[in-house]
Amino acid sequence: MVLPRERDSVALAVALANTWDVLNDPPEHLDDIQMLRLILRAFGLEEEAKRAKEADLAPLRAMRDRLREAFGADAESAAVEELNALARESGAIPQLERKNGGWTFRYGIGRRSLVDELAGRASVALLGVIEEGGWRRFGRCAASPCCCVFVDRSRNRSRRYCCHWCADRATQAAARRRRKTQAA
Ligand SMILES: [Zn+2]
Repeated sequence: MVLPRERDSVALAVALANTWDVLNDPPEHLDDIQMLRLILRAFGLEEEAKRAKEADLAPLRAMRDRLREAFGADAESAAVEELNALARESGAIPQLERKNGGWTFRYGIGRRSLVDELAGRASVALLGVIEEGGWRRFGRCAASPCCCVFVDRSRNRSRRYCCHWCADRATQAAARRRRKTQAA
């Protein structure tokens, strides 16, 4: 699993979705509280990392699977329905709070669980992507067998791979195929 370059809530949603990564053995990343804390800290969610506990892992895995469904849906409307449901169930009401001299949205109001907070943050961010650029910005890595997802933020919507490792892997595989055809 490679963390996205960006550090916003869209990137966090993608990072959470990619905690299931078949290129890793085992593919599950969310069975380790240290890994969860590492991801949260990478996104500046220090307080959330401190709050995270073992009991959060199972509901987080279930939430992650729902995020992935939004990427693998049959149609845009199905993806929106899934994310709307996630936002609704997690009580995703945004509250703007001070952070590092700027502002940041928080979703876990009152006694909401860590999972609710992350579900709110991730679902609202992904819904925002669809509102702005449509669901076609959601992608799945084309370098088989990788099944990681990404949000295509390129201007010409040309992105095909989840990370530069997979892009390199695909380029090398294509070169091997070309050499084979030439040799035949
Ligand atoms: Zn990939």
